Amino acid sequence: MALAAFDMDGTLIDGRLVFALAERSGLDGKVRDIQADLRLASHEKTKMIATLFAGAVRGDVVSAVESIPLAKNCEKAVALLKEQGWKVGIISDSYTVAAGAVAEKLGMDFLAANELEFDNGRATGRVRMPMGWQEIACTCRLSVCKRFHLEKYAKKFDVPVSQTAAIGDTRADICMVRRAAKGIAFMPKDDDIKSATGMVVSEPDMMHVVRLLAAHRD
Ligand SMILES: [Zn+2]
Repeated sequence: MALAAFDMDGTLIDGRLVFALAERSGLDGKVRDIQADLRLASHEKTKMIATLFAGAVRGDVVSAVESIPLAKNCEKAVALLKEQGWKVGIISDSYTVAAGAVAEKLGMDFLAANELEFDNGRATGRVRMPMGWQEIACTCRLSVCKRFHLEKYAKKFDVPVSQTAAIGDTRADICMVRRAAKGIAFMPKDDDIKSATGMVVSEPDMMHVVRLLAAHRD
């Protein structure tokens, strides 16, 4: 038994939900400003960005993620991994309402993400962040510590960490990519994730990930 954790934005899908959502309401400049603010910890940015989406309709958040194409051969790759006995899931710093739609489409076994709060179908501006870095002394300080959740789901499915894989595209994925037995940088967007692992996929095709995982299987 093995377990593979995928990042969503920029990895499973060829784009980023918060930008797709922000562009629809002309908020993309504000989202970019918050993300570029070096004084803010990552989880503080997540909180501030969520306030921008107060009033957003749940269905619009889902249709924003559905407007972003899946990575090439994404469905095929996940189906193949599942056939080979992998537990496959999403660990994302996006929102459960959107990541859940992607997880369902791909038949994922698990999902961890930030929970955007809704009241009567509209976002309240509040977000519940699973974090987890405090519990394992991870230095990432992200709204979703991906290493914490990789370990959590490995334990849940009774998979040793030596049989895990993690796939991501930015520095937000580093802690899980380093922790997993097989950490893959898929279409890396920054140098930090690229230098965090020796396994880099620079072609936008998820089948390369399946081949890498098959080649390195014990
Ligand atoms: Zn972490």
